[in-house]
Amino acid sequence: MALHANHPRELTPAARAACARIVDAGIPPELAGEKKLAGYVNPVEVLSRIGVKAEEVRHLILTHIHWDHSSGVGLFPNATVYVQEDEFNFAIKDPIARRPAFAATADPKSKDYIASLERTKRMILVKGDREILPGIECLLAPGHTVALQAVAVKTRRGTAIVGSDCAHTFQNYREDWPSCLIVDLIGWMKSYDKLRKKASSPDLLFPGHDSLMSSNYPEVAKDVTRLV
Ligand SMILES: [Zn+2]
Repeated sequence: MALHANHPRELTPAARAACARIVDAGIPPELAGEKKLAGYVNPVEVLSRIGVKAEEVRHLILTHIHWDHSSGVGLFPNATVYVQEDEFNFAIKDPIARRPAFAATADPKSKDYIASLERTKRMILVKGDREILPGIECLLAPGHTVALQAVAVKTRRGTAIVGSDCAHTFQNYREDWPSCLIVDLIGWMKSYDKLRKKASSPDLLFPGHDSLMSSNYPEVAKDVTRLV
């Protein structure tokens, strides 16, 4: 998902470079092929439709280390990667993360790539809440994973939250009922309260996997909608 993506006709090259920051990395074509994902679109291709080249992406916030959010990290070779330190330590280093129930949501190849970034200039391990760029704040929101981070973005309508898989759908939030994949239910409740409070209005808290985000918002390019 591109956070600061305007219609290509509105972008000068300088503005495009300045806006090259994304939340989550999508899935690389090889893994999509292995998993036979129907309707797959390469995130590099999607970004190109709004005038952003993958190599121009300078900041990549990983909300959590599940294959459908983080396996495309290698597609963005010039990006600094932001991930919560506790998420990194668990997913990359903890032997429990290699057991089947956790391994099912992991992609070993991209985990190796993420591991290789540790202690390089390309990785920033975030501890808790932190404004990483003007108007863009990472918010620790555990529950779905050990240390998922949501992203608060200052917009013309107020603070919007890219909640990632804190909830998979708007319905999860509406019904105060999480998706089935939860490592800490009480932690999830507290994270939900925190994100709801931080968002300027309930409709500015976005889930991670809801097709309504494609169908109910204006399309600025094929498969790309403007949420705020
Ligand atoms: Zn997830």
